[in-house]
Amino acid sequence: QQALTHGGKVEGMECIHLQDRETQYFWSVKMPLLTENQNVYAVLGMSTDMTERKLLEDELLQLATTDDLTRLSNRRHFLEQAETTLSRSRRYSEPLALLMCDIDFFKNINDTFGHAVGDQALCRVAEIIRGSLRDTDLAGRIGGEEFAIMLMQTSLENAHEVADRLRQTIEAAPILLDDGQHIQLTISIGVATPAYPMETLATLLQHADQALYAAKRQGRNRVCMA
Ligand code: GH3
Ligand code: MG
Ligand code: MG
Repeated sequence: QQALTHGGKVEGMECIHLQDRETQYFWSVKMPLLTENQNVYAVLGMSTDMTERKLLEDELLQLATTDDLTRLSNRRHFLEQAETTLSRSRRYSEPLALLMCDIDFFKNINDTFGHAVGDQALCRVAEIIRGSLRDTDLAGRIGGEEFAIMLMQTSLENAHEVADRLRQTIEAAPILLDDGQHIQLTISIGVATPAYPMETLATLLQHADQALYAAKRQGRNRVCMA
């Protein structure tokens, strides 16, 4: 249809879903063939199967954007998405909240139980974070044992509720080791909301970080607001 209305060559990716088969991707070129009077008498099309290449591309994109251990967004990808989200929210003056989370005394867990158990703790926290967010929210592992969360359409008050529920869920989900020992995990969270229009992602992160450090100073396993 595009080739006909456009009157010239069009090209692009097409995906084809056949029942009981994996989706196939094709790079297709289509062009109308014209008579001397410029009437279309046929459309010529050529499609090259690029399914393998598309899947490889998807896999590379996945590798470049996710954190291997926890499957959350990696730092770079989180920051990219957060930047886009902040710009959009600023344009429409929509509320938004940033949560900076840091596992308490994580070094102790590593030192006492070993790195593998530390990794397990990181995955547990990531899993709980993933389970407590809406589809539109963003979450990433942005440092060793630091996670950032961006909540869409969320006021400071609501963000505090979400953060405190997250904190409680993590506190209530100790890691059980093979030898029967329980490891109590807790996190501290700093919450910040943007003051439009001046707020940049850098200042918002800074405010959430300051709130996080206040939570640490006040004894950990708590939520502080910027
Ligand atoms: P605080 O309550 O003040 O946050 O203390 P903390 O011990 O959690 O903080 P600190 O920053 O001193 O230690 C963080 C530790 O996280 C240090 C490092 O050994 C560990 N770590 C960082 N990345 C990883 C990782 O990928 N896996 C594991 N197992 N440990 C990690
Ligand atoms: Mg830390
Ligand atoms: Mg820590």
